[in-house]
Amino acid sequence: MTAVNTIRGPIDGADLGRTLSHEHLTTGAAGMERIPGMMGAERRAEMVERSVAALARVRQSGIDTIIDLTPFDLGRQAWLFDAVAERHEEHGVNIVCATGCYRWVPPYFWMWSEDEIAQRFIVEIEEGIDGDGPKAGIIKLAWDMEARLTEGRMPVRAAMEKVARGAARASKATGVPISCHTLATDELGTPLMDIFEDEGVTPRAVTIGHSNDTTDLAYLTSIAKRGANLGLDRFFSDDPEYVATRGGLALALAQAGYAEQVSLGHDAQPAGFWGRWNDTPRPQCWTLVPEVEVPWLRDHGASEADIDAMLVGSIRATFEAAASQKGATQEG
Ligand SMILES: [Zn+2]
Repeated sequence: MTAVNTIRGPIDGADLGRTLSHEHLTTGAAGMERIPGMMGAERRAEMVERSVAALARVRQSGIDTIIDLTPFDLGRQAWLFDAVAERHEEHGVNIVCATGCYRWVPPYFWMWSEDEIAQRFIVEIEEGIDGDGPKAGIIKLAWDMEARLTEGRMPVRAAMEKVARGAARASKATGVPISCHTLATDELGTPLMDIFEDEGVTPRAVTIGHSNDTTDLAYLTSIAKRGANLGLDRFFSDDPEYVATRGGLALALAQAGYAEQVSLGHDAQPAGFWGRWNDTPRPQCWTLVPEVEVPWLRDHGASEADIDAMLVGSIRATFEAAASQKGATQEG
């Protein structure tokens, strides 16, 4: 048994079921709940209602678990997890919440060592997020175009690399997997895997996310060959051409034998502040994968085994691989 932390406590990895690998209840920025007028009682109540509605809706399309990849600096709200957990009977969806760091490394990490950063992540996994919130079940790590910025007194890339190494060490210490936001068009999974391998992380415990923002199969199979999971975790439209492109990528990877290393998701949120509060509720924000992409895959020759692998097996494998390396000492 592999225990996976959810916002209602640990469950067996075997019980995760059909999982969307990269979603959010809300996003914005650290401290946004303290900005006057942004998140008052009425808004908070609406955030809960929208989240519960979206969870109930996605449950109807057969999804069992959502991985919420919102670290503190992306506006994670522990109170919202607690409120949604209290209403579990209304939606029935497991939620795994995240520790980790988004793409703009906060200045207070700059002078910290990799091990000090790791320790911050470890506390959120072992004791709870924000002190008294639910325990994190996964480590979010972002690696975006800032990685190009290598000049100056405090180069951004160096800070990102330090956080990536901290994530690797926290993963090994706690047995929790890492899921990464990456800029796929710059093939940034490659330098990130170099760092994780250098730290001795089991590649199978790592998801290189947003990988369906590219159609470069040579790049994607090079990541899969190293053993990592590919997060095809952005899906925003039911436009037929869009569906055929993103579905086609998942199908091509399955046909190349990598279905067990592909996970699916939307990177969508029912109650977010990305740019601004969305005045239009979107209870269906997590239904394109189960109701459009998966049927497209079936129609175009994907087997049930392929679909099970992408929705169930691939994510479960990342939790199990991470758990199996817990406490292993670094060799490289
Ligand atoms: Zn995201």
